[in-house]
Amino acid sequence: MDSPRLDFDRRGRNGSVSSKRASTIRSGVWLIFSIQLIVLLAGGSVVWANLASIRHDTLRLAEEAREHHRLHMMAQTAAQMEVAFRMAPAGGEMWAQLDDGLRRLRSEVQVLRDGGEKDPSEHAHKLKEEHLLERLGHDLEQLATAVQARDLIAGQKRLESLTLATSHLLDETEGEFHESSRDIRNRGERSHGMLLAVAVGACLILLLFFWFLRQRLVRPLLELASAAQRFGQGELRHRVETSSPDEIGDVARAFNEMAAKLARDQASLEHEVRDRTEELVRARRLADVGVVAASIAHEINNPLASIASCAEALQRRMDENALDADEQRAYLAIIAKEAYRARDITRGLVSAARDERSQVELVRVLDVVRDVVMLEQHVLVERGIEIGLTLDDQADSLCVMACAAELKQLLLNLVQNARDAIQRGPGRIDVRLCRRKDQLALVVEDDGPGVDAAAAQRVFDLFFTTKPHGGGFGLATSKRIVERYGGQITVDAAPTGGACFTVTLPLALEEARS
Ligand code: ADP
Repeated sequence: MDSPRLDFDRRGRNGSVSSKRASTIRSGVWLIFSIQLIVLLAGGSVVWANLASIRHDTLRLAEEAREHHRLHMMAQTAAQMEVAFRMAPAGGEMWAQLDDGLRRLRSEVQVLRDGGEKDPSEHAHKLKEEHLLERLGHDLEQLATAVQARDLIAGQKRLESLTLATSHLLDETEGEFHESSRDIRNRGERSHGMLLAVAVGACLILLLFFWFLRQRLVRPLLELASAAQRFGQGELRHRVETSSPDEIGDVARAFNEMAAKLARDQASLEHEVRDRTEELVRARRLADVGVVAASIAHEINNPLASIASCAEALQRRMDENALDADEQRAYLAIIAKEAYRARDITRGLVSAARDERSQVELVRVLDVVRDVVMLEQHVLVERGIEIGLTLDDQADSLCVMACAAELKQLLLNLVQNARDAIQRGPGRIDVRLCRRKDQLALVVEDDGPGVDAAAAQRVFDLFFTTKPHGGGFGLATSKRIVERYGGQITVDAAPTGGACFTVTLPLALEEARS
């Protein structure tokens, strides 16, 4: 079945994204852009108008400066004429100086009049200026008449009036000069403030633009991405919070539904895994029970075989009529003892399978060793196999805390394995019991074929056997028994080439101290 995939190309190729969110974003962007444009246009036109006014005021300033210069020249000429009136001796030279002064004054007045037409100054100022210039022109004509008439008194009077008119005109020009420069400064400050306001407004609108994009586009996408990440990290309960009716809202809702479904699936999967695990555990227990049953059957075969062989021997001896009461009692005692051993083995194995301890007591190991040797002697002699017992001088007192039946089972396993390895005599099995520091060592050595290196790695594994009818329980059980009492069992090659099994067990406390 095809699983759905995200197709990112579908919309991108034709270049047109038509979606509710896209159209909302588009309208928002247009709105913000329009506001930005209006602010920029309004601010720009105000600044533009201010600049135009500044240009106008600058022209005013230049005009006033020019007029001021001319008036200043006129004032100087008038001052020179006054000096001529007062100081010079009345005569041809004085009148010539005055004629020259008159000519210069006329020229300046003419320049001022010509410039007055292009004067960009305020209307009121222009009127005042025209009026004063009119007066000045009138005074100049009067002065000219007086000079032509060579009338000294009238000339001086007219010159005074002209000087006064010039000074009024100078004052007026200076006033306009100061006003236009103040206007320039004010407009400059206004333009500066307006530029600042436009810049701040534009920045605020840009911020608004970014905030809008973040709110409408980036934030929902980030939320989706973070939800997907948390979901990927295993937080299946995490959901995206959204109420927007557009496509991102649709994606978020689809994501939430998918997360809920996956959470449900995972819960049911976990439930199924739990059920299967329980089934597996049950099956494993049943298999363990099977192993225990097989183990019990194997271990019980030994005492049964002993009982059967004693019963046969008893029957044979009775058939031969050679059985005395003591021998009969001895055979019956062995049969009873082996029957009890079978019972003990059953109990021990069941408790071993349950991992419970058997009945632990202080056991004198030499008793166990003697029992096993006596038990096996009969079969060994029949097969032509010698068994020897070597004891050190402390062997008599070596005791361990263990279950006697299990120890016997352990030693029997080792002796019977040695017997099976030799098969038919001549052969020899040596059993040695000695003390090593605070432990005892029980060694069973034979001169059979021995255990090769590969087999030595596995002889203690459950079910490992090389015998046609073996089960591979004996050494695994022996190892478990030894380890349960804190000891160790190892296999080495004997000097004769056979196998040498060594069991070490910690001595019981009082024996260890002695
Ligand atoms: P089983 O006796 O049923 O085979 P064991 O666990 O007692 O099971 O023995 C496992 C294997 O270890 C034997 O099949 C044999 O190959 C090997 N083995 C044990 N003791 C000896 C020995 N004394 N000499 C040679 N091989 C031995």
